[in-house]
Amino acid sequence: MKSVRLHAIKDFRVDNLAIPQPVGEQLLLKVGACGICGSDIPRIFELGTSKQKYPLTLGHEFGGTVVAAGEEADSSLIGKKGAVFPCIPCRKCNSCISGDYAMCVDYDYLGSRSDGGFSEYCLIPSSWHFVESANPETSMEAMAMVEPCTVAQHAVRKSNLRAGYSVIVFGAGPIGIMAARWAKIFGADQVVLVDVIDEKVRFAGECGQVVLNGIRQDIAAEFKKLSGGRLADIVIEGTGTGAALNQAIDCVKTFGTISLLGNPHMDTTIRLSQHSSILRKELTLVGIWNSYYADTPINEWKYTVRMMDTGRMFVGDLITHRSNIDGIPQLCEDIYMHRVNICKALYSEDVEQC
Ligand SMILES: [Zn+2]
Ligand SMILES: [Zn+2]
Repeated sequence: MKSVRLHAIKDFRVDNLAIPQPVGEQLLLKVGACGICGSDIPRIFELGTSKQKYPLTLGHEFGGTVVAAGEEADSSLIGKKGAVFPCIPCRKCNSCISGDYAMCVDYDYLGSRSDGGFSEYCLIPSSWHFVESANPETSMEAMAMVEPCTVAQHAVRKSNLRAGYSVIVFGAGPIGIMAARWAKIFGADQVVLVDVIDEKVRFAGECGQVVLNGIRQDIAAEFKKLSGGRLADIVIEGTGTGAALNQAIDCVKTFGTISLLGNPHMDTTIRLSQHSSILRKELTLVGIWNSYYADTPINEWKYTVRMMDTGRMFVGDLITHRSNIDGIPQLCEDIYMHRVNICKALYSEDVEQC
């Protein structure tokens, strides 16, 4: 099988490997699609894998079809399509005991710490990691979008959105657009996306969203025009930048909520007037980290797949770039060098081999 492995920082290439055989509780997945995550690009070109373990098959946003099962695994899953929950929690720490696997202090992870989905086949530790799709019509590409889509859902859920609320989402990439879609599903009235890159503003508009330009437009003033003079009940900050956070504080109403979803890459400065506004408006700031996978109160991953299966969450229009396995290193380099404008790019088994 072909796998795209990181051998060292900047050394990301296709290797020919033997197809692994599942043992014990393991499942063997034929990967149908695997998304390129924003975090993969610095992992390949700047940071390396988190434990500097090489060679390693990257890719943590993936789904596929179960083609073999270990002797202790449920063989009835063979032939089933689904998404993969890539986190392998320790199951011993306090977070794991309470079902908060995203907060595990000693986790393994398919695609960043163990071999992941940029491969024709991938071993899954057990059926616990497999989120089955019940609808044969749901695409493999949708399965590859379940991870980022669930992160977007988690942000909306943690924002305590209620029917009739208005929402602004900063950052019109795939997660921002999906967060806007979840906000509607969760009952929001007015939902507005904000980005500073013209191409992203245009693309999100084509995806049916109301989008404002965070540099050219006064977001608070424009939002008021759209929402009958009111500021936003909830702002989801998806860029990780100080500029957007300061704007978010201006755009949110008194007693409103700002959810911090975007990963910061440098120190964030909050201006004096905005810092005062946090106090004067008695704002709630909510940190968002990954997603929730335990079955109680609700497994967000299974809910995402259910919503995709029933057609209520649609993500297919967000995919702008598809590649076969051979083209993945070049596509990642093109993204790193800003040679392509992507919303979502992914490996798809359906793209012809060259
Ligand atoms: Zn990701
Ligand atoms: Zn743990």
